[in-house]
This record gives sequence, C-alpha cells and structure tokens, in this order.
Amino acid sequence: MNTSLKHLLLGSVAVCSLSGFCSAQEYLNGIEWKQPPIVTPGSENHLPPSDAIVLFDGKNTSRWENGEKWKVVDGELVVGQGTITSKDKFGDCQVHIEWSAPTPPKGSGQGRGNSGLFLMGIYEIQILDSYDNPTYFDGQAGAIYKQTPPLANANRKPGEWNSYDIFWTAPRFNEDGTLKSPAFITAMNNGVLVLNHFELLGDTPFNQPPKYRKHDETGPLTLQDHGDPVRFRNIWVRPIVPVEGKQARPPFLRNGNKETPIAQ
Ligand code: MG
Repeated sequence: MNTSLKHLLLGSVAVCSLSGFCSAQEYLNGIEWKQPPIVTPGSENHLPPSDAIVLFDGKNTSRWENGEKWKVVDGELVVGQGTITSKDKFGDCQVHIEWSAPTPPKGSGQGRGNSGLFLMGIYEIQILDSYDNPTYFDGQAGAIYKQTPPLANANRKPGEWNSYDIFWTAPRFNEDGTLKSPAFITAMNNGVLVLNHFELLGDTPFNQPPKYRKHDETGPLTLQDHGDPVRFRNIWVRPIVPVEGKQARPPFLRNGNKETPIAQ
C-alpha cells in the first residue's frame, strides 16, 4: 500500500472516532497480546504497589549490605558509615526513593546534603541539597553526575521530603565486552521531569571520563555516604517486564464479515 493511501485510511479512522459516527470498519493489528498483570497501586502514589520490592519500609536495613552501619530513626534511614548496597539486583526497573537533606543546612556546594543513588551500583543520579545552594550544574540534584544537569531544579527546602521516580533501562553488552546498547534514564523529582530518556555515556566517577565496562545484566542499588546525614524513606523498586505479544496474523481491516489484509 502506498503511503498516501495509508494516511487516508488512518485519517478516516480518526475522523470516525472524533465525529462519533463510526463506520463498521475496524483496524486490527493481528497481535495476540498477553494480558497485562494486575497491579494494585499503593493507597497513595508514593507508596509501593503490590508487585514492588520494598527495600526500605521504615523498619530495618535487612535488605542492604552494610545496612547495620546506617541508622533507622523514627522510620527514616539516616546515612551512616560507608555506602549501602541492596541485596536485590535489578536490570530495567522503576525506582521510587524519598530523601531529605539535613536541616539546618550545613556546608555549601557539593558539601551540603550530598548523597547519591547508584543504579546497578555504578551510575549515579545525584542527591544533593540543591535548594538555594549553587554548584556545578551537572552535579546538582537530579543530575547524572558529570554527564548532564537535570532539566529543572525542583528541590524542596532542607528538612522537607524530595521524591525521585526513576525509570531505568540497563545497558547491554556484547560477549566481547563492547557496548550493545547504552543505559537510558527518565526521572522525576517531586513530580517534575528532570531527566528525559537521557542516554548515559558510561559510569559517573569524579576524576575520570565516563566509560562503559561490561557487567552483569542486573546490579544492586547503592546509596552513597558523602559525609552528610541525608535521610531516606519509602524505597521501592519494580523490575520492568516488557509486554508480550505475538503476531498471530498480518494486520487487517474488518467490516462485518469482510476482512481485508493491509498491504505491508
Ligand atoms: Mg553524590
């Protein structure tokens, strides 16, 4: 089918839908989809849905390596000595994490309310008290450290809670160690988009250019100890399971009993 005819068909369907007067003709894509799983959302959007892996629910640090070196105070996880690393490992995933910078604020720039969340233990999205606290832009809260600033500074005041919702696509590697496909990240800070399908250039060290090095298909989440008593709550993860479908037959149009294949 030529392109203009395709457009005409699509157009006629659209007009039909918008006008409210529909012809009997229906487009069918021929794909048999697997039924999407039923997920019961949290009672509020920041609380874990039914299928989430809860890494911190206010009680203890049992799901973290080195967790005993951090403190749980009034249901909040406070940065202690050394990084902590989740015992669970993830590839593509959705991450929710809430954090609050120390109050009253102490220090300036990178020395104020600094922590960080490392996806797969390697790739840092910066956690920093960026409320009225200038620093280099690709080091402020919501930055992929030393790679890109966030699209916006949406931080709340120190002492208030910030909420990251992160959508992570893990990098893929070839057998020989070369990069097959890079990592991508989309993230919101307090409901504001701060990273939009950003393509990572590699890891995020302070003193080296970013670089990819082959690693496992899954990895842990790591939280950084940067010497500041940043607090955390409501940390949960949902592995991203792709939709499944199989092309059972080629796409077609149906009008009553009449089926017309769509030329590819
Ligand atoms: Mg940091």
